[in-house]
Parts: sequence; C-alpha cells; structure tokens
Amino acid sequence: MSNSENELRVRFAPSPTGALHIGGARTALYNWLAARHSFGKLVLRIEDTDLDRSTAENVGQIIDALEWLELDWDEGPLSQVARAPEHTKALEKLLESGAAYRDAATADDVKAYKAEHGNDRGYRGEQSADGSGAVRLRVPDDGDTVVKDLIHGEVRFPNRSFDDFVIARGDGSVLYNFAVAVDDADMGITEVIRGDDHLSNTPKQLLVLEALGHEPPRYAHVPLLHGPDGKKLSKRHGAASVQELRDAGYLPAAIRNYVALLGWGPGDDETLLDTNELVNRFRPEDVGKSSAVFDEKKLRWMNGRYMRELDLEIYTATVARFLGRDVDSELTEACRISQEKASTLAEVWPLIRFVFEEPAEDEKAWRKIMKNDAGAALAEVREALSGLDEFTTETVEAVVEPIPERLDLKPGKVYQPIRVSITGTTVSPGIFESLAVLGKPRSLERIDAAMARIEAAPPQTPDS
Ligand code: GLU
Repeated sequence: MSNSENELRVRFAPSPTGALHIGGARTALYNWLAARHSFGKLVLRIEDTDLDRSTAENVGQIIDALEWLELDWDEGPLSQVARAPEHTKALEKLLESGAAYRDAATADDVKAYKAEHGNDRGYRGEQSADGSGAVRLRVPDDGDTVVKDLIHGEVRFPNRSFDDFVIARGDGSVLYNFAVAVDDADMGITEVIRGDDHLSNTPKQLLVLEALGHEPPRYAHVPLLHGPDGKKLSKRHGAASVQELRDAGYLPAAIRNYVALLGWGPGDDETLLDTNELVNRFRPEDVGKSSAVFDEKKLRWMNGRYMRELDLEIYTATVARFLGRDVDSELTEACRISQEKASTLAEVWPLIRFVFEEPAEDEKAWRKIMKNDAGAALAEVREALSGLDEFTTETVEAVVEPIPERLDLKPGKVYQPIRVSITGTTVSPGIFESLAVLGKPRSLERIDAAMARIEAAPPQTPDS
C-alpha cells in the first residue's frame, strides 16, 4: 500500500447492506475514471462494519456488478472489519498522545450535561480512571474545520458545533468516521470521491486525520441522484440497481456513458462518449454542484445507440448471452433484422420470437388488423410469394411492394395483415426482411392459417 510520490490513489468504499445502486455505480465509475485518467490506483474497500446488515451475499453482488460494468480495481477487496487491529493501533496512539480520552460518563450523563451546557466538553474533567468507557476525540474549542472540496469549494464547520465525539465504544470497537479516516490514511488515499450525503461526516474525519498527524486527502462530494420528478432516486423511478439494469437489457458501455454524464460532462446527458473519451476527459473538479437526474428513458435511448453500433457478430453474441441461447445462423439473421428496432436487449426477443415460435396469440392485434380487406390483401400476397424461387428480402420486396397500389389500399392495410399473420403482433422488424428470415414454407403456412381463420370467422368490422 505504498504511495509513490504524486500517485493518485482513490477508493470505492461501498457498504454491503444491499445491491449496488445507480448512485453507487456512479461513485465507483467516477473513482475508476479518476484513477485511469491519472494512471493512479483504485482501491476497493468494503465497509462492512455494520455487522447486522452487511452480508457476504451483498459483497458478492457488488463485486459482480462492478465486474459486469467492467470497472476493475487495483487493490482489494479489503474488508474494513478485517482492519480492526489497525484501528486499535490508531486508537491507542491517540489515547497515548492525549488527543483522545476515555470517558466514564454514561450516555444519559452526557445528554444531561449537554442540555445544560450546549456541548459535552465538561466531561473531559471526568475521564475514566479504570480504562473503561467510550473513547472520545478531543475537539478543539475554537476555530473551524474546513473541508476543501473540489466540487463544493470551502465548507466551514465551527469546531464548537461538535461534541468530543465518540470514536470507539467501551468494548473497543471503533465508530464509522474513525475507521474511514484511519483507512484512508493507511491506504494512502489522495482523493476521496463520494456522495455528498457524506459531506457532513468529513469534518469529523478531518479532525481524526489531524489528530493522527496525517495530511488529509482532497475531497470531491458528488451531488446525489434524483428521479425525473425531482425526488431522491428510488425504485419508484424504475430499475435502480445495476443488477436490475443488467436484467432489463442495458449494455455496460451505455450505462457507463450515461451515468458518467449525470452531473458531469459537456452539459447535456445525450452525448455519446466512449469509455476512452470518458477516461481522457473526466476530472472530478468538473462535476457540477446541483443534483443530477437519472432518467431511464434517456438511458434507453442511449443504449439503443450503442446496440446499433455493435458489429452483427458481437451484437448476436450479446443477445445470445442475454437470452441464454446458442449462436447459430438463424439467430444471427433474426438479430440482424432486430438491430435497428431494439433499444435494450430485453426488447430483442419480442421482435424475433416469431422466427423461433408460432405466432403470438394477440387477440387485440388480430381484431384490430384482420378486418375489411385484410383477407383479400393476404390472398394477393400469398399468390405473389408462392411464385418466388429465391426468397430473400429483395425478391420478397419486389413482389409485395406493388400490391397496395394494385389493390388500391394504403401500404399498412397490406403490411399489417402480413405482420399479424406471421408474428401474431403489430410490431416486428421490417416486413420484407421478416418474411425472408422466416423463409418461404413457414411464411406461406402462416399466411394460409391466417386466411383460413378469417374465412372461418369473419371479424366484426365496426368501422367499415
Ligand atoms: N461506505 C459509504 C457508503 O457506502 C461510503 C463511505 C466513503 O466513501 O467514505 O455510503
């Protein structure tokens, strides 16, 4: 854990009390970008001191999510709990120097004293003689503790506003702000990039660092994420965790791009910047002060852009992995015709299912489309297709495209009945390419089946 001169050392320090959420992913990404930008080091520190809520399963989920996002780290994962001996050592150092002291007072005593005097400094006179009691940090009576923040500027906290706060319990276990400060110092962290919900913890961490005689790191407190309604981001706004985004079919590269722009970047959240460009351009001091809005609709748009840029081979492999299928030529062809239409991986299967399964049973689509001249249009289409020897997008187009005019129908009055016949739905890739991928025998079979069904039960035609 050495810190060579000038090397940037950042850390991502999640508490494993749940899955990795988008806000946490952004903090991880910003730390990763800062490290990669400066050829520095990223440490992954698992802040597992909340023994009731920290689980191995959550640690596993966070690590999976980071790996899936392709955010790698250089040191760790280190467990904060496993660093208890280092915390104890630091505590003893402070007790020895007198920067901290044991306090025999009970919580109730302190409360009563505070109510009367405004702070609890008076208990300094009643330090525990027998070595029991909580350990408190001796906070200077005057002056300010100043957080010099790359995003928020200088934030001043009068020392008088703090108690001699507890840094370790009577049983020797240390408290959160103490552990964080000791770990940051021991790990040689030079820049702390984290959510600005931690800004109020920072003066306490600075006081601990000062008492230990360590230079403080630089801080960059990143504004929290909100939903489009202005409320703090939560499940109500859709997929909130990285796992949910993965299951919803977003690509890691698109998530990195979109999430990076939440609070940072050229000023809008629709700029396509690949990961190299993000690494080249990211600087934590350029992150804005106001809260950023996570809008899943915009992520979806951006994801579609990334999907369309993939080579067919990579796109197909990505879809195959998402669907748990093997790559073969049928899937490749189906993927090819879906690529322009799908914005997420989850949207691909509904578009291509008709290639692998019988048409969906969508009664609403059937009733809406299969009326009036649908039967006649299908008869004409069937006739035209049955004459084709070669069944490609081009040959299909050549014979189907003239039909609307010939029958004096709008194109949709011909194409939608074809679509419902072969897919069961009103949404599919282009109709010529869909027919071509399905192939001649199955296309004719499905059109025949649709015509037979129309004949057997002519649909109600309320608006005819
Ligand atoms: N463990 C804290 C959290 O998950 C982060 C602490 C820090 O970055 O200093 O919110």
